[in-house]
Amino acid sequence: MTWKNNRQLDLRERAQKVIPGGMYGHESTKLLPSDFPQFFDRAEGARIWDADGNEYVDFMCAYGPSLLGYGFKPVEEAAASQRARGDTLTGPSDVMIDLAEQFVAQISHADWAMFCKNGTDATSMAMVIARAYRDRKTILCAKGAYHGAAPWCTPRMAGITPGDRANIVYFEYNDADSLADAFKQHEGDVAGVFATPFRHEVFADQYVVDADYAQLARRLCDEADALLIVDEVRAGFRIARDCSWESLGVRPDLSSWGKCIANGYPISALLGSEKARTAASTVYVTGSFWFQAVPMAAALKTLEVVRTTDYLEQIQRSGQRLRDGLDGLAKAHGFGLRQTGPATMPQILFEEDRDFRIGYGWVTECMKRGVIFSPYHNMFLSTGHGDAEIDFSLEVADEAFRAVRARNAELEPHPVLVALLGL
Ligand code: PMP
Repeated sequence: MTWKNNRQLDLRERAQKVIPGGMYGHESTKLLPSDFPQFFDRAEGARIWDADGNEYVDFMCAYGPSLLGYGFKPVEEAAASQRARGDTLTGPSDVMIDLAEQFVAQISHADWAMFCKNGTDATSMAMVIARAYRDRKTILCAKGAYHGAAPWCTPRMAGITPGDRANIVYFEYNDADSLADAFKQHEGDVAGVFATPFRHEVFADQYVVDADYAQLARRLCDEADALLIVDEVRAGFRIARDCSWESLGVRPDLSSWGKCIANGYPISALLGSEKARTAASTVYVTGSFWFQAVPMAAALKTLEVVRTTDYLEQIQRSGQRLRDGLDGLAKAHGFGLRQTGPATMPQILFEEDRDFRIGYGWVTECMKRGVIFSPYHNMFLSTGHGDAEIDFSLEVADEAFRAVRARNAELEPHPVLVALLGL
């Protein structure tokens, strides 16, 4: 079937009239190549169909939530069974306690759990609890790290006042001196430090954190009696079945989780240690839909799969097959690829591609042949990505490298990107 986008273009036109900018936020295609589908129809496993019926192997996984594949049956059945009993009720279902117990049993640092909807809810709640803990103001965040879209952390400054950021202090990720200096500058007032499990910013290579640095962050927090917060919203369960820094010998006081914890159902979580329990019980945090029972039932089943199956080894293997295959193909076509981050959350950028035109050209060629990669954001593997999906993706990638090589002279940088990055 040949790729088409007639309906997509109609939908975009309609959306433009009734949705500001036609679409907003991280799922807007404004920064993607112009032909990328904005609206989708359905999905199953690792496959997704856009509004025109084009079928793709999808390496975005809804920007993370699909861990076990779209529509993974055991999770759907758990959700359906809870839905038959009720979802949004006057109080939570007892499944909330089951879920909290399961998180506490599974995540080493956690002694309690609170649930909300989006990752931003969980990180914002972590911020408030850290401030309530010793009644302090200063929150330390790594420069450029994404923790959500609330005024204290959104990456765009439209509509944000300096007051919204007054007590947010930035340091360089994985830089011991920079972190120590931030503590010194704000001695006596550091409430908490945010850390992502590894460095996973857009338009940049990803890199892992040094164990020494993670341990220093723990030590500095202990000395200052501040809370260490690991933001697992993006990386959770794609690096480990536990908190990602557990293998570095570092246990945070708080960890925020979201995206994949219910395989696509809307729920996020904040987990905490004993030390933060009193502060957590004093803050006022809530939402009309935070206590829905269906996403909790879906999360409970997802955690069971995480605990009892080899899902992690499966996605590691598929991610590595993709990475090795792409490396070989790129070399054969004379391209240098920079594939960084864990193989389960790959970032794929090109060497000598300062304005990203080669990457954008390549993902466009892949998309038109049935594979969705991102030219600037890390991607996500799910257990839906089996051998057949990886083999197909590599065949497509091979043709796309060839097509880009042939079109090399015509490639242009993306106009929005040129303006945004000042290229
Ligand atoms: N923290 C991190 C590390 C994230 O990657 C994200 C989302 N990309 C968030 C927080 C915010 O999550 P949400 O979009 O669900 O609010």
